[in-house]
Amino acid sequence: MSDFPANLFSGKRFAVVGLGKNGSPAARTLAAMGAQVTAWDDSAAARAAAGDLTLRDLRDGAFDFDALVLSPGIPHTLPRPHPIAARALAAGVPVLSDAELLFQAVRLAGSRARFVGITGTNGKSTTTALLAHVLEGAGVPVAAGGNLGPAALALPLLPHDGVYVLEMSSYMLERLASLRFDAAAMLNLSADHIDRHGDMAGYVRAKRAVFDRQTAADLAVVGVDDALSCEMAAGLPAQMKTVSGTAAEADVHCVDGVLCDQAGPIFRMADARALPGAHNAQNAAAASAMALFLGVSRADVARGLASYPGLPHRQQLVATIDGVRFINDSKATNADATERALVCYDRLIWIAGGMAKAGGIVPLAPLFPRITRALLIGRDAPVLAETLTAHHVPFDMVETLEAAVPAAFAAARAAQVPVVLLSPACASWDQFTGYDQRGDRFGELARGLAAGGAA
Ligand code: ADP
Repeated sequence: MSDFPANLFSGKRFAVVGLGKNGSPAARTLAAMGAQVTAWDDSAAARAAAGDLTLRDLRDGAFDFDALVLSPGIPHTLPRPHPIAARALAAGVPVLSDAELLFQAVRLAGSRARFVGITGTNGKSTTTALLAHVLEGAGVPVAAGGNLGPAALALPLLPHDGVYVLEMSSYMLERLASLRFDAAAMLNLSADHIDRHGDMAGYVRAKRAVFDRQTAADLAVVGVDDALSCEMAAGLPAQMKTVSGTAAEADVHCVDGVLCDQAGPIFRMADARALPGAHNAQNAAAASAMALFLGVSRADVARGLASYPGLPHRQQLVATIDGVRFINDSKATNADATERALVCYDRLIWIAGGMAKAGGIVPLAPLFPRITRALLIGRDAPVLAETLTAHHVPFDMVETLEAAVPAAFAAARAAQVPVVLLSPACASWDQFTGYDQRGDRFGELARGLAAGGAA
C-alpha cells in the first residue's frame, strides 16, 4: 500500500465521532497524516476498543476543530441532529464525510488520481465492484471502497493515472465540500431512508449531490429505468450518458441480451456469469459507460464484464450438487430485491423468511408459478405462508436454515428442479447477526450437502 505523507494534515484539528468501520480508520489515518484527532463514540464498548486514539466527550468543552467527521449512521440534520453535530453546526465547523477528506488528502499529496462516485437506491455495490474489476483488468491502478468497504480513508494513495471508485450513500453525499467526481453515476431512485431526508425531495437532493461541482470535462451517468432518476438527467453541466437495462433509447443499453452504446455492441450479457437479470444489465451499462470514459478499450470492458466474479450474498453461486445450483441472495431483505432474483429462474425451490417488511411477499405473486416448492424460516414464516396458501404454492414451515437447505435439496431432486435460491425477502435479525451471516451459513450448509453430511 502506498502511504500518504506523514505531515499532510499537520496543524489541522479534526473531531471524529462514531468509531465504527468508517470512523475508526478515519481517525487513525488522519492522525497518521499529522492531524490532531479527537475521537468519540457514545458507546462505552466502542470507546474501550479505541486503542491509542485520543478520546474526549465532545458534547461538552471547547469545540474548536477544522471539521467534524461524522459516521454515516449518525444524523446531522434529520430526524434530529446528534448533539455533537448540533454543536458543530452552531460553531460553523463543517461536517464532512471520510470521502471528502480522502479527496483533500490525495490532492494535497499532489496526486491527480481520478475519482468516480456511484450512487442510487440499488446496485451501488455491484456497479462499484464491477467498475473496479474492469479497470483493474485493464491495468489501471484502482482503489475501490466507500459505503461497501473498505472505508474511504482506509484506501491507499494512488498515482496520477489511478482511479478511486467510491460507493456513495446519500449520507456520505450530504457531507462533501470540494470532492468533484470525474465520473459520477446515479443508478436508480426509489423511496428509501426517508426518515433521514425528511421527504422524497430531500432524498433526491442528497443523491443529486453526486453531480455537484462537475464540469463539461466530466461524465454524468444517469439510469433512466425509473422516472425519478430519469428526471435528474436534465440540466447537468457534465457530459451525459443515460444507461438502461432495457430501454433502447438510452446511450448505453441492453436489448436482446446485448449491451450496446452508440458505437455498437459491447458485450453479450449471457457471457457474464455473475450478472444475471435486467437490473445487472443496467449496472453493466453504467460500469461500461464509465470505464470507456476513463479510457478503457471496448475489448477490455468486455473481458472485465465476462470475468467479474460477483459479490457475496447477491445471487452468488455457492455450490452445485448433482446438477442443483445453490444461489445465495441473502442480501435481498425485501420483496423488491427478491423479485430481481426470482425473474432470473424459470423453475426453482425457494427458501424465504425472517422478519418481513410491510406488504410481505404479496408483490411477488406474479412470479409464484416459477416456484415448485418453498421452505419458510424465521419469525414471519406464518405471514409468508398465508400468501403462499392463497396462491396455491406448495410450502413447508421448517423454522431454520439448517432444516431448510436439506429439505430444499430433496425437493429439487424429487422434482428435477435445477435451482435452490435463498432470497429471503425479509430481514435476518430474528435468527442472524445480519444478512451476511445468514448467507455464509447457507453456503456452509449447501457445501455440507456435497460432503454428504451435516454442516
Ligand atoms: P446496493 O449497494 O445499492 O445495496 P447491491 O449492488 O448490493 O446494491 O445490490 C443489492 C440488491 O439490489 C441486489 O441483490 C438486487 O436485488 C438489487 N439490485 C442490484 N442492482 C440493481 C439495479 N440496477 N436496479 C434495481 N435493483 C438492483
